[in-house]
Amino acid sequence: MKPFAYLAGTSVDGVTQAVGGTPQAMFFAGGTTLVDLMKIDVLTPAVLVDVNRLPLDRITVEDDGLHLGATVRNSELAWHPEVRTRFPALSEAVLAGASTQLRNMATTGGNIMQRTRCPYYRDVHAACNRRSPGSGCDAIDGVNRGHAVLGTSDHCIAVHASDMCVALAIFDAIVRTRRPDGTSRDIPLVDLHLLPDTTPERETVLDVGELITEVIVPPLPWATCSHYLKVRDRASYEFALASAAVALRFDGDVIAEARIGLGGVATKPWRARDAEAELAGQRPSPALFAVAADAALAGAVARRDNGFKIELGKRTVVRALTELVARLG
Ligand code: SF4
Repeated sequence: MKPFAYLAGTSVDGVTQAVGGTPQAMFFAGGTTLVDLMKIDVLTPAVLVDVNRLPLDRITVEDDGLHLGATVRNSELAWHPEVRTRFPALSEAVLAGASTQLRNMATTGGNIMQRTRCPYYRDVHAACNRRSPGSGCDAIDGVNRGHAVLGTSDHCIAVHASDMCVALAIFDAIVRTRRPDGTSRDIPLVDLHLLPDTTPERETVLDVGELITEVIVPPLPWATCSHYLKVRDRASYEFALASAAVALRFDGDVIAEARIGLGGVATKPWRARDAEAELAGQRPSPALFAVAADAALAGAVARRDNGFKIELGKRTVVRALTELVARLG
């Protein structure tokens, strides 16, 4: 690991100014991704600015929704009564991620900003446009069983690793930030992460020194009818091969409104709006869910090893919807 300086801030404006004004400075919260990557020289910040002492570790219920502080630990978020009862898919998604120990350290903001698990990204001897712009992408013609089929480009096919973000995407969550100049802005979660396109090294719309301070989940009464399903190689401590966050609003026995998000198959938290449109105004049935699943994976592009993810992604959507409807009795 390369030597680095360490600063611990106690004010939001203090830490944003420290990172914004210091080349190669990075925010440090739970450290569950960052420290790993520093140990293998993938990330080499000159300065770590610790945000753990900022007053951002609360979950509050306000008129405009649930406010999830950026340094709220994933465990606290997942088990919070308001999250469990009002947004069950969010609780399920967070609990599906990592391990208990990691969830006890990992934060809301860090989960959103976590880096890809692409093995070539984590190998400094491999070509990787995301880590080293212009170097190429060893995954495209390499071992790519775990890589994305949606939102890819010829420059990067890495999957976005977060479960939590998939659930936040279907609930229209807003990410609130603070910039080094003291201004704040609200960014829809679905617009925060960038597709790789020709610049995979640029992962989000955030500016240098811009800190996530909280995530706001707007009220959605029918979010109580939601579910997150994750399919993976083993039952825990594993990233998704495919996942789906789903929510349904019924009018009688007809689906009035639907939300569907995908994980494990896309380069960013993926909202499947065409699939949602297929469900609206229809009675639930296996045939309808299959139509929605086809729409969700339309446009998917398979590489050498990951073609199975297209069918797996469809089946995950169908199963998530089926399990949700079954819960309703
Ligand atoms: Fe790097 Fe993306 Fe290619 Fe992986 S898929 S090697 S992260 S450019």
